[in-house]
Amino acid sequence: AEEKSLNFIEEIIEKDIAEGVNGGRVQTRFPPEPNGYLHIGHAKSICLNFGLAKKYNGKCNLRFDDTNPTTEETEYVESIKKDIEWLGFKWDNEFYASDYFDKIYNFAVTLIEKGAAYVDDRTPEEIAATKGSTFQAGSDSPFRGRSIEDNLRIFEEMRDGKYEDGAKVLRAKIDMAHPNLLLRDPVIYRIKHAHHHRTGDKWCLYPMYDFAHGESDSIEEITHSICTLEFIHHRPLYNWFIEQLGIFPSKQYEFARLNLTYTVMSKRKLLKLVNEGYVTSWDDPRMPTISGMRRRGYPPEAIRNLCETVGIAKRENMIDLSLLEFCVREHLNKVTDRVMAVLDPVKMIITNYEESGDVFEIENNPETPNGTRSVPFSKELWIERDDFMEDAPKKFFRLTPGNMVRLKGAYIVKCEGCKKDEQGNVIEVHCTYLPESKSGNDISGLTVKGTIHWISVAHALTAEVRNYDRLFKVEDPSSEEGDFKEYINPDALQVVPSVYIEPSLAKAKPGECYQFMRKGYYCVDKDSTAGKIVFNRTVGLKDTWAK
Ligand code: ATP
Ligand code: MG
Ligand code: MG
Repeated sequence: AEEKSLNFIEEIIEKDIAEGVNGGRVQTRFPPEPNGYLHIGHAKSICLNFGLAKKYNGKCNLRFDDTNPTTEETEYVESIKKDIEWLGFKWDNEFYASDYFDKIYNFAVTLIEKGAAYVDDRTPEEIAATKGSTFQAGSDSPFRGRSIEDNLRIFEEMRDGKYEDGAKVLRAKIDMAHPNLLLRDPVIYRIKHAHHHRTGDKWCLYPMYDFAHGESDSIEEITHSICTLEFIHHRPLYNWFIEQLGIFPSKQYEFARLNLTYTVMSKRKLLKLVNEGYVTSWDDPRMPTISGMRRRGYPPEAIRNLCETVGIAKRENMIDLSLLEFCVREHLNKVTDRVMAVLDPVKMIITNYEESGDVFEIENNPETPNGTRSVPFSKELWIERDDFMEDAPKKFFRLTPGNMVRLKGAYIVKCEGCKKDEQGNVIEVHCTYLPESKSGNDISGLTVKGTIHWISVAHALTAEVRNYDRLFKVEDPSSEEGDFKEYINPDALQVVPSVYIEPSLAKAKPGECYQFMRKGYYCVDKDSTAGKIVFNRTVGLKDTWAK
């Protein structure tokens, strides 16, 4: 077996298993709030939670943390499920925090009965103003001493819709001088007359995140509740609720979130990009969302490899976008068929070629053999404009008068010259071919330094290509001054309306990914129609940022 050192969470789990904590059972969960599409940061949490469950024969639940009715939608629930499955993971149970609203409400009642929670009639602003600071204790609410009976009665009235939004809140009764401000009598329930995507209008009282989250973990008997670093200060509160309620002791562990250069990763910001038209949709290939990456052609293996490669850290860090691109390239190199596409065409005429109906069988994938395909050949071919140079430097091994190259899978041709228009632009490249140099049956005895791709003019199909660049001009748009949108790269999408592709691609289907020989990886977009295939450039063959 491969020797790999354990990350700190695996160390904790292995110790727990060895000590028989929870009978050695491992139960994790992935808890998205359905208020947006998943992004690459979520993929990190998914790989971690589902990965740990798998490694330790445990279980992982998908739990929608849907306690905020105003931002949540069923569309998001569906997209989240699709993305997790696409990444290659299966949840053991699909749960919703909203299904626990009755239980969570009863937990609140229990706290009131214990004298550990009270109704505060002040506004959120007034409450915030009495919280104090790191250097100064907060002050007690005048409602802190309310009797248990009054608290129980008013809390029930709050549930029954007797009060307006913001009129009252339920607060945990902890300590207004606690060094951790989150424990200074935090609000645990608020009134919100809002329709919920699952519970409809049943509730007008909703639990705050801190109260609902840990309690949901406990209800599901989650053993290792993994969250991102910013929740570290919430952990004492997480534990306080569980202790007060005497419920299953889930334990919270924090790891550093995944951050990626040249993008943003907050759902709020991503939603702005969509709503304000900076991108076309959540699955726009420029987006750092899982659905955007899928549409762009990133394979799930590459995303999982990235998460594996960056590991689990206890400190915030920033991952370079080129590492993700490296993982994408590495996987696509193994699995994609090679095809020929001419992106910036010029016509080549083989002056001594008079055959017709010639077809070459060309191998699809030299890395992972996957058969051959037939590619028609003829006297007139499209080649890349930059594969010809009239006055070329010494080391130019492609087409320049007197030079020879191999046409991929076909013949060796010798460049004889070119034809230009009145402005001096090359409009035709003239060559002669060597009949005895046929690929696979070459008896010419010649070796040439360059191989170029080509497409028979008579057989070429046209396609649209969408080239993508980084979505932002700066490494970390969120840390820059002003509005993050000022740093959007306006050239992140460039459309090439018409390129030539070989006829074997006529039946290419959305989602399929190919290597365009010598050019990069391209994926068929869902905008393709019967008349025109649209390709997204997934990534180039080489890291061009490195230059
Ligand atoms: P956002 O800031 O995008 O709104 P969130 O944390 O509020 O993210 P949730 O839906 O609550 O979004 O996230 C579900 C899970 O994914 C949480 O456990 C969260 O910690 C984790 N997660 C979110 N973003 C990242 C990230 N960048 N890296 C690692 N894990 C993340
Ligand atoms: Mg969250
Ligand atoms: Mg959020």
